[in-house]
This record gives sequence, C-alpha cells and structure tokens, in this order.
Amino acid sequence: TGRTYEKLPCAFYDEQIRTRQITLKNMADRLSPAMQNREFVVYYQPKYSVAEETLFGAEALVRWRTNPQTLVPPGEFIPEFERTGKIAELDRYVFRQVCSDIRKWMDEGREPAPVSVNLSRVNLLDFSIAEEYRAQAAKFGVPAGLLELEVTESAFAQDGPALEAAMKKLTDAGFSLSIDDFGSDYSSLKMLYDVPAQTLKLDREFLNGLNSGERGRAVVSAVAGLAKKLHMTVVAEGVETEEQLEFLKKIRCAAAQGYYFSPPVPEEQYAALLPAAEKRAAHADFYGNREN
Ligand code: C2E
Ligand code: MG
Ligand code: MG
Ligand code: MG
Repeated sequence: TGRTYEKLPCAFYDEQIRTRQITLKNMADRLSPAMQNREFVVYYQPKYSVAEETLFGAEALVRWRTNPQTLVPPGEFIPEFERTGKIAELDRYVFRQVCSDIRKWMDEGREPAPVSVNLSRVNLLDFSIAEEYRAQAAKFGVPAGLLELEVTESAFAQDGPALEAAMKKLTDAGFSLSIDDFGSDYSSLKMLYDVPAQTLKLDREFLNGLNSGERGRAVVSAVAGLAKKLHMTVVAEGVETEEQLEFLKKIRCAAAQGYYFSPPVPEEQYAALLPAAEKRAAHADFYGNREN
C-alpha cells in the first residue's frame, strides 16, 4: 500500500513558500464548492477491543480529494477551516455522510458497530447542534447509540456552565461523548470530573510516554485507572506496536486504534469488516457489556 498523499514537487525554498501561500489563499475560496462537489471523503479507522482483538467500532476521519490522484489529510486543511469558521459546516457534512454510510451497511445486512465522529469546539458550543444531529440520525434511521462524538480536550477549556449545558443536550439526544487527544497537551485531571464524557481517548503522544520506561508506564496506567473508576471507557489511539498492545492489555484498556491494526480505510473496506446482522439477542449481546 503506497502513500495516498503526495506533496507538490518543490525544488526551491522560495518556490515552496509561494506554492503554499497560493494554496492557502485559494483554499478558503475552494471550501464551499469542494463541499458541493462532494470532494470530501470519509475514511474509517477501525478500533479493536484490546482483550479480544475483535472489532469495537471505528472513527470517521475526513480527507479531501482535490483531484483523482490526491487525497489530502485533514491536518493540511482543518486549520484553515477552523480559521474561516467553515469547520462547522464540514463537521456536519461528515456527520451526515457517516449516517448515510451506517444506513447503507444496515441495508446490506451488516451489523454496524458504533462510529465516532469528530466535533469541533464551535459546534460543541452551538446549542442547535444536538437537535440537528438527532434529526439527521433519525432521518437515516440510525440509532443515536451508534454514534459517538469526539471532542478534542483543548475544546473543553473555559466556558464552564455553557459547556456543561451543551454537553447535556448532546447526551440527552442519545449521543455518547469522548474526550479526544487526552494527554497531548497540558491536560488537566480536573477535566475528568468536570466533563461528563463516556469515553477517554489517550493521545498517541501520551502513549509514547510508554517508551520512557517505568515513569511513563506509571502515568499512563494511573490515568487509565482513574478514568475507569469514573466509569469511562478508555480507548488508546496511535497504537503501532505489539509491546504497546501488551501493555494496554495489562492495564485493561478497553479498545485501541492504530496502524498496528489498520490505518483509516475507505468505506467499502471498513464495511467488509462488519459481521452479518443476526437475530435480536445477538444484537443485544454485541452492544451490551462494552464497559471494561
Ligand atoms: P484525531 O481525531 O486525533 O484522529 C487520529 C489521527 O491519528 C488520524 O489522523 C489518524 O489517521 C492518525 N493515526 C491513527 N493511527 C495512527 C498510528 O498508529 N500512528 C500515527 N502516527 N497516526 C495514527 P488524520 O486522519 O490525519 O486526522 C488528523 C486530525 O484531524 C484528527 O485527529 C482530528 O482532530 C481532525 N479531523 C479529522 N476529521 C475531522 C472532522 O470530520 N472534523 C473535525 N473537526 N476534525 C477532524
Ligand atoms: Mg478523533
Ligand atoms: Mg484523537
Ligand atoms: Mg490525536
């Protein structure tokens, strides 16, 4: 499997800068047409249960197909979307696409596993989003329980009461919430009791602390233990090695995603991992007992 993203060939430094500025300048104008042209593609990265190594769910990750050969990763355009306020629209676009994909999998007779979708701070603080997302999921006949919203930890900074109210609306609408990228920056442990999220996602950088020996392992293990005492499901991201997985087993982390298992893949490739839908009892089993 080759790389999906190629940088423009740039021989000289000043040429590179020019290319970049032109790209950024055009980017803001290209956002709306690109959405209309359906140039944004949703990839799915499977998550696996750490104990069983069976499918646990997936995270939806957007890419921009600027031309048939180029798939641009979100790090290249999300900052511009955030700067121009367009991110609110892109999040909605991705959410809708995910609902449509889950509907498709169900219609194909597959048993969908929960999908988490990234939600940016502006949308988190938008009071209409909970009702909008609830209606969107309902329109596709997708149970809200199959959808989780990932909000990056830095989005929870400040705005205590407003934030609390917004989160309550989302959970009341049936969506579960996940604190994304925990440990990537100056995460506060206070967030763990302030933010009523169901899932804690340990950031790849945080997990890298495992390489720094006993101290790193002690911190990761303590944070995971604390989250579990708060009845949160702990998910590790960016798992690349067997050693990392072994450690996650030891600390009873619930689920993991990362290149060790799979990179984000196109919709059809992810759909092929979903089991055939079975009778109601099996369904209840699959979704029950997801806590560790
Ligand atoms: P994230 O939500 O923390 O997503 C995880 C990122 O880690 C993804 O990068 C994924 O491809 C990458 N990753 C997964 N496993 C591994 C691994 O084993 N090793 C390494 N090195 N990386 C791994 P991606 O797809 O480039 O997305 C980057 C970020 O863009 C996401 O970080 C998320 O914050 C943002 N993003 C993606 N889609 C959306 C969206 O629809 N809305 C919003 N607001 N943000 C999005
Ligand atoms: Mg995420
Ligand atoms: Mg993350
Ligand atoms: Mg991350």
